[in-house]
This record gives sequence, C-alpha cells and structure tokens, in this order.
Amino acid sequence: MQLLDGNACSEEIRKEIKNEVENIIATGGRPPHLAAVLVGNDGASQNYVAFKIRDCEEVGFDSTTIRMDASITEQDLLNKVSELNENTAIDGFIIQLPLPAHINESKIVLAIDPKKDVDGFCPENVGNLNLGLPTYVSATPNGIMELLRRNKITTEGKHCVVLGRSNIVGTPMAILMSRNTDPGNATVTLAHSRTKNLKELCLTADILIVAIGKTEFLTADMVKEGAVVIDVGQTRVPDSTKKAGFRNVGDVDFENVKTKCSYITYVTGGVGPMTRASLLQNTLKAYRINRETSDV
Ligand code: NAP
Repeated sequence: MQLLDGNACSEEIRKEIKNEVENIIATGGRPPHLAAVLVGNDGASQNYVAFKIRDCEEVGFDSTTIRMDASITEQDLLNKVSELNENTAIDGFIIQLPLPAHINESKIVLAIDPKKDVDGFCPENVGNLNLGLPTYVSATPNGIMELLRRNKITTEGKHCVVLGRSNIVGTPMAILMSRNTDPGNATVTLAHSRTKNLKELCLTADILIVAIGKTEFLTADMVKEGAVVIDVGQTRVPDSTKKAGFRNVGDVDFENVKTKCSYITYVTGGVGPMTRASLLQNTLKAYRINRETSDV
C-alpha cells in the first residue's frame, strides 16, 4: 500500500505557483488577488478562510478577507458580490459556504461573475465542465484529479465508484473521471443514499472516491484487493486530547482499509491540502484570464 500524500503534492503545487508569482512580479506585474467573503461566526468556516488566506500569503498572492455580520440581508450580500465583480484589483473571490439560513445561497452564487468564480460553482462554469470546455473546476474534484495525475495512477478503463453526488464534489468528480482525458477514461458509477447493494458495487471498484460525510463508512469488507481509495470526508469529532477540542475523521475506515489498497489517501493529509492548492491554481488562472482573454 502506498499513501497518496496530499501534503507533499500540494507543497509541490504551491512552489510552482510561488515561482510563477515571482516571475509576474519580476516582469512588472502585480500579484494575483483573491478575496474571501465570510458571513457570520461559524468556527469551521473561519478556519477554512484563515487557511485559504495563509495559503495566498505563502505563494505571494494578495488577499482580502471581507467579514460580514450573520444578520446582513441577502441584498447586502448581493451588493458586495457586485462590488467584487466590478473591482478590477480582485481577480477571483469566494463566498464561504454555508451562508446563514435567511440568505438564498443559489441566488448569491448566480450573482458571481463566472470569470471571477474561482470556486467553480456558477452555472456557466458547471455547464462548461459538463461540456469539456475551459472552466474553473471546483477545488476538491480538481485537487483529486491533480493528486491522481501527479502520482501517475492509471484510471483508463478502470471502474471508478464515486460515493456521494453533491454539486461540489461527487457529481463533478464523476464527470471528470469519465472524460476522455488522463486521468479519466474510467467507467464511472455515481452512488448515493438510494443506491442498492452498495457493498457489492464497491467490491467491483478499482477506484473508490468517497464523499458522503459519514465517519469511517467505507469498511475493509467493501474494498477489493488492490483498489485505489480516495477519502474526501472530513467530519469534526469531539476529541479532548486535541487543542482544538476536535479531530477530523474521514469517510473511510483507514486503518483496516489501507491493508487492502494499492493507494489510499489519509485524512487530513490527502484531499484537504489538494483542495486548498486547487483554489490557488484557480486564482492564478483567474488572474491570467481577467488580464489576457475573456475566455474562461
Ligand atoms: P453532501 O452535500 O454532504 O452530500 C452527501 C452525499 O452523500 C449525498 O449525495 C448523499 O446521497 C450521499 N450519501 C449520504 N449517505 C450515504 C450512504 N449511506 N450511502 C451512499 N451515499 C450516501 O456532500 P459533500 O458536500 O460532497 O461532502 C461530503 C464530505 O466531504 C463531507 O464530510 C465534507 O466535509 C467533505 N468535504 C471535504 C472536502 C475537503 O477538502 N477535504 C471538500 C468538500 C467536502 P443523497 O444525495 O441521496 O442524499
């Protein structure tokens, strides 16, 4: 069994991006600039945004965090989105989800200029992904593809079972793995909570990508010998031995599943850091697109 090391792989990507930023600056350009909008005080969201901003600093991007009170109106947030759409000093921005219940997330996402939608959540970018056109691929599936590519994992002709059909992970993941690309060219089954005979289905998988948010759901008896297992899950579980008071647990029973795998990711050093690196890649892409071409 070999670990697919997202920490090492993302570090490689961050170094590449840092070099590119240094070149941009050496030739008289300004650094790429990411803005993150944080609404309310959700602890996990605050952490995620803090990590993203720290990543920006590390590679030499400019970054701005915009904090808004949980009580803001939907219109206030829409106004902020249009301000960011118009602001030529900002190349891309994210609205950290989830938003407070009184704000319609879809309405906000629809208002983002697709050229600045570095999360890849806008309908135009999702549509382009489906059509195989240039786009921003949402960060987690993009990071997983990069992890497979950089580790030279063969996916062509393999049976890939994706567990979970969310718009941000499972569904784009299934599209990317089925595309005529490398990695890709897999035969994909997209499974969800209504899938019958899940265990039998998983046992036919050469590649398992698990994104359901249920701790240690995928057990060793569901995994074929030699399978590649990618664990996307990240659920906070109380843990008094940790400074933060919790630890993140994946969707895969890592200790038992690893003995059967050819390759496996671990939580939190697998998909998480790759997701963060992908956002940096998308921001650099946005910088170029907003400068050089109108083709996202
Ligand atoms: P989500 O919106 O929470 O949806 C969960 C999906 O799992 C749904 O499609 C659901 O099916 C399916 N599901 C639930 N129980 C199932 C079961 N028993 N058998 C089969 N399928 C089942 O998904 P998400 O936002 O993609 O998040 C999934 C996990 O990934 C979470 O732990 C999240 O924190 C983590 N995540 C991690 C990263 C990272 O960077 N590491 C990024 C994003 C998400 P239905 O559609 O039928 O309800």
